[in-house]
Amino acid sequence: MNQQMKFDIGKEWTGTGVQDLIVDLVNALSAVKSLSEVSCEMADEKTVIRYALAGLLQNQDMERCSFFVIDNEGILSNVTGLSTVDSPEDNMWLPEKSMSFQLGEGIIGAAAASGKVQQCHNCQEDPRFANIGNPASVPGCIICVPVYTLRKVLIGVLNVSHPQPGFFSNWHLKLLEVYANILGQLITNRRLFQQMESQISLRTAELERLVQETSQLKDYYASMSMHDQLTGLHNRRYFYEQVGLALAHHKRYAYPFCLLVMDIDYFKAINDKYGHQFGDEVLISVSEALKKEVRNTDILVRFGGEEFVIIFTNIGCDSGKQFSERIREQIKALSWSNGEEKVSITISIGLHCLNPTYSEVEPQLDIDQIISCADAALYAAKDNGRDRVEIFVS
Ligand code: GH3
Ligand code: MG
Ligand code: MG
Repeated sequence: MNQQMKFDIGKEWTGTGVQDLIVDLVNALSAVKSLSEVSCEMADEKTVIRYALAGLLQNQDMERCSFFVIDNEGILSNVTGLSTVDSPEDNMWLPEKSMSFQLGEGIIGAAAASGKVQQCHNCQEDPRFANIGNPASVPGCIICVPVYTLRKVLIGVLNVSHPQPGFFSNWHLKLLEVYANILGQLITNRRLFQQMESQISLRTAELERLVQETSQLKDYYASMSMHDQLTGLHNRRYFYEQVGLALAHHKRYAYPFCLLVMDIDYFKAINDKYGHQFGDEVLISVSEALKKEVRNTDILVRFGGEEFVIIFTNIGCDSGKQFSERIREQIKALSWSNGEEKVSITISIGLHCLNPTYSEVEPQLDIDQIISCADAALYAAKDNGRDRVEIFVS
């Protein structure tokens, strides 16, 4: 080994042979290596520092070490500390914030203020320790190393002490400088990691909110696209979405199926005489009345203009006709006021009923054909004088 090198590293090295030097070297490397096991993902900064201090104490002949973190006011507070001498076996951690110093105050404050390693070979005789209340807690010797982030912002001060004055050698000093350097990088990484994590959780929350909003918006537009704005009834699009299932049930289980097409008589005249807004109110009231007449399982839609379609599920032609007649009468019974005048309307209905054996006879009949049949019945109702129900007969 290069003699000059050996001298530089261990000028005050107290080992008595190459073997001791190797043991010290291995211990030093083990202490540094222990830092590589510290993960940025650890719960908090204090845990990272504790891990680092434990690694240091395990592999080195030091009896106490602690870490003082600097806050925004420039106060250095003991965030954690480890002692093999004055704490119980099962809990060697010193109490948090048990001590604090201002910048420049004491040897810890001096390390922070100067940015340089501070060492005291004999604390008992050093005036900087004169103010410590309990002389028994004054160490024999101490090394205080400032710890920086990668951008050279002070994080705090790493301290190690030993009860025996003059115990620390240059060897320890060099090791602690390297150690503090790596610890600074670790804490920097940990802080960056935390920043990144909080950014990620912020963004995730934002994203979740956006996804929720989008899904609400999607539901809203889906609902809008299925509803008629004026009356709130389902619309033609909804009708075509739902009718497939009703028809499939009819075909598969031979459920009866009645389709009613209904149109307001002379509605154009209502608009022309009382205005479009009045016409709108009529359409809204008619829709409300129709809603009351149908069951949950029925399909009621505003098919367009003043035309409505109802599918009565699972009722036969006789009941379909009875329901239709009732609807016709209910609508006829409605009235609206226009000043002194009472306005009422009538409707015409075309009905097409599929009997339960339909599926075997005409399996290819589709909904548009069924509607055409009901429409034909509606035209017949109009032709036959309006205000009536007609049933399609093939
Ligand atoms: P018919 O007895 O033969 O059915 O005669 P009608 O006047 O009802 O038939 P027509 O199809 O000529 O007129 C339908 C009218 O319905 C024309 C249109 O202006 C009106 N209409 C369609 N949609 C609306 C609406 O949303 N509001 C209002 N107020 N009127 C509407
Ligand atoms: Mg019409
Ligand atoms: Mg009409």
